[in-house]
Amino acid sequence: MHCDRLWTHARLATMVGRSVSVIEDGVVACLDGRIAYAGPQADAPAGLDAADVIDCGGRLVTPGLVDCHTHLVHAGHRAQEFQRRLAGEMYQSIAASGGGIVSTVNATRAATVDDLVEATLLRLDALIAEGVTTVEVKSGYGLETRTELNQLRAARRLSKVRPIDVVTTFLGAHAVPPEFQQDRDAYVDRVCTEQLPAVAGAGLANAVDAYCEGIAFTPVQITRVFDAARRHGLPVKLHADQLSDGGGAALAARYGALSADHLEYTSTEGVDALARAGTVAVLLPGAYLMLRETQRPPIEALRAREVPLAVATDANPGTSPLTSLLTAMHLAAVQFGMTVEECIFGVTREAARALGRLDTVGTLERGKWCDLAVWNVAEPAELVYWLGLPRLHARVWRGR
Ligand SMILES: [Zn+2]
Repeated sequence: MHCDRLWTHARLATMVGRSVSVIEDGVVACLDGRIAYAGPQADAPAGLDAADVIDCGGRLVTPGLVDCHTHLVHAGHRAQEFQRRLAGEMYQSIAASGGGIVSTVNATRAATVDDLVEATLLRLDALIAEGVTTVEVKSGYGLETRTELNQLRAARRLSKVRPIDVVTTFLGAHAVPPEFQQDRDAYVDRVCTEQLPAVAGAGLANAVDAYCEGIAFTPVQITRVFDAARRHGLPVKLHADQLSDGGGAALAARYGALSADHLEYTSTEGVDALARAGTVAVLLPGAYLMLRETQRPPIEALRAREVPLAVATDANPGTSPLTSLLTAMHLAAVQFGMTVEECIFGVTREAARALGRLDTVGTLERGKWCDLAVWNVAEPAELVYWLGLPRLHARVWRGR
C-alpha cells in the first residue's frame, strides 16, 4: 500500500478501547489527510511505503488533542479586575463600576472581526503549541445579533489562518446584557427569535449552548432556547450546575445534549440522567481553581454510571484565563481526582464525542483525519504529570 506519509517507530496510543494501551513499535500511515493505517508495524499491510517517512524515535504518539469548551474569541482581558479581587474588593462592587462580564461585552462589541481574530491568535497559538488540533469556540460576549455573528465569523476565520479545526457554538444565552437587566424574558425572546435564526441562517454555529444558573438563566428560559435550537436542527450543550444545583444536568439530558459542562453541584439524579442520555460530562478545572471553588464535581458517581468524561480549558477572560490543555489535565487529576487515563481520554476521544466529532477525530483509526501529537515523553502519565514543561515534539493536522 502506497501512502503520502508514514510515521514509524512510534509508541502509539490510539485511544481505542477501554484503557490507554501503548503499541510499542507502532506506525501511522496517512493518505489524502486521513489515516490509512495505525497500529503495530508487525501487522501493517504488506508493502506499506511512502515517499515521506518520519522516524518518531520511540516517542509517544497520540491523537491530536481536542479542547471542547473555550470562550477563546473576545476582546480585552480582566487582569485589573483580578488584581482588585486579590486586593480584597468584592465582585459586586467591581461589577457596579463597569467590571465583570459587562467589560468584556463592551470591548467585544467595539471590536471588528479582524480585531477579534488578531486578539485570539495569541491564545489559539498557545493551544496549538500543545498539540491541540480541534478547538471549540463559543460566542456569548456580544449578547446582541451583530456582535454574536462577528464572534462566530472570527472563530471560523481562525481555521483559515491556522492549521486547526474550529467547531463553533452559539452562546447568546450566556448572560443578560445591561440593556435587558429589568426584563430577562425579553432578552431570551431576542435570543430565540432574532439572534439564533440569524446565526443558523448564516450557517455559523455547529451547536447551541446556554448558561443555567441563578446569575444567568432559569431552566424554563433555557428550555425556550433549546426548543428554538431544535427548530433550527442544532444540537445543544449546557453550562450546568456550576455554582448551585439548578437541575442543569437533567435538563441537558432531556434534550439529548452533546455535553453538560462544569457540574460541580450536580445531584445523583442529574448524573443518572446524563448516563441514560449518553451526554458527555465536560469538567473545567481552570474555573474551579480561579473561583477557589471547594465543591468538586461528582466524579465517583459519574465514573460509576460510566458517563463519558472530558476535560477542557474553558479559556475565558473572567473565570478561567487558561490556555493550556495539558495544565487542565493536571488540574483535573489533582483537584478532581481523575485518573491519568481519564484525563488523556478526556482531551482526545471523549472531547471529540462532546463535539459530536467522534466519527472524524479523537482516536487513531483508519478513515479519521490524520491529526497527531508526537511527544517528547515515553510514558502517557508524563502528559498529566508535568506542570508547564513543553512536551510537544511535533504536531500533525490532516497529515501535515
Ligand atoms: Zn464556559
